[in-house]
Amino acid sequence: MKYPRTINRYCPNCRSHKKHSVSLYKKGQERAMNHGRRRLEKKKRGYGSFPKPIFHRNSKINKRSTPLLECSECGKKQYAKSYRVKRLELQEV
Ligand SMILES: [Zn+2]
Repeated sequence: MKYPRTINRYCPNCRSHKKHSVSLYKKGQERAMNHGRRRLEKKKRGYGSFPKPIFHRNSKINKRSTPLLECSECGKKQYAKSYRVKRLELQEV
C-alpha cells in the first residue's frame, strides 16, 4: 500500500488543518528492568508453572503498520489510521 509523505490533516493542538510530515511508527526498545519483565523473571526463577504459554503459531500474516504524523507548525505527533498490510510505502505525491 502507498501512503503520501506529507498530508493535510487536522491538528488538535493548533485546532485547524495543517501540513503533517509522515513517518512510520516503530516500537521503541523495551527497558530491561520494566515491571512486567521483573515480574516474569521472578516467576521464572521460583516454583509453580511457567507463567505464560509458549507462543507457537501466529494466525495473522501481516503486521499492523501505523503512520505517525508530525505537525509542521507545532511539531506535535499523532497517529493516523493503521493498516494491516504486507508493506506500507511512503511516497511523494
Ligand atoms: Zn499543530
